[in-house]
Amino acid sequence: MEGVTQDILDRLIDELKKLPGIGRKTAQRLAFFLLKMSVEEARGLAQAIIDVKERLRFCRWCNNVSEEEVCRFCADPRRDRTRILVVEEPITLFAVERTGEYKGLYHVLLGALSPLDGRGPSDIKAQSLLERLKQGETKEVIIATNPTIEGEATAIYLTRLIKPTGVKVTRIAYGIPVGVDLEYADEVTLIKSLEGRRELT
Ligand SMILES: [Zn+2]
Repeated sequence: MEGVTQDILDRLIDELKKLPGIGRKTAQRLAFFLLKMSVEEARGLAQAIIDVKERLRFCRWCNNVSEEEVCRFCADPRRDRTRILVVEEPITLFAVERTGEYKGLYHVLLGALSPLDGRGPSDIKAQSLLERLKQGETKEVIIATNPTIEGEATAIYLTRLIKPTGVKVTRIAYGIPVGVDLEYADEVTLIKSLEGRRELT
């Protein structure tokens, strides 16, 4: 009996350990927390995870999370199609959108370059951005990758990639402390960052 109990718990701990930033100790703590949850709460959590996987996907144009093949921003004819704001993850897109200041389109890279971790250009959605630019509607690409080493490396890479197309490339300004992900920036800071963007050459 002991063995079975341990196996069931270990399986949960192993699954939790796959999450980013979760080590063995945290996984154990979470597993015991889940054990104390009511069955309804546990089902709610499990169902939310399944719904995300079964009902959401990445937009075929911008890689934002979406219930449809094309997300609501790409599908919205009122959005300014001459601008594309580039972010690393959808969570930053949500933060920018909450400011209500940006009316253009987005492009989500679903990652950033990190040579130290072996993440290169083929691990981010950069080529599909280039494909979008070839359609000729875009006048400006605003790079809003995080102010981290990875985000800066990604911004430099994208600038080199986009420059030959003749599309203007700008980088948002940083009142944001270096090393802090954009998703944690407050709205006023984000608006100022957008307003203070400068052209990259
Ligand atoms: Zn989209």
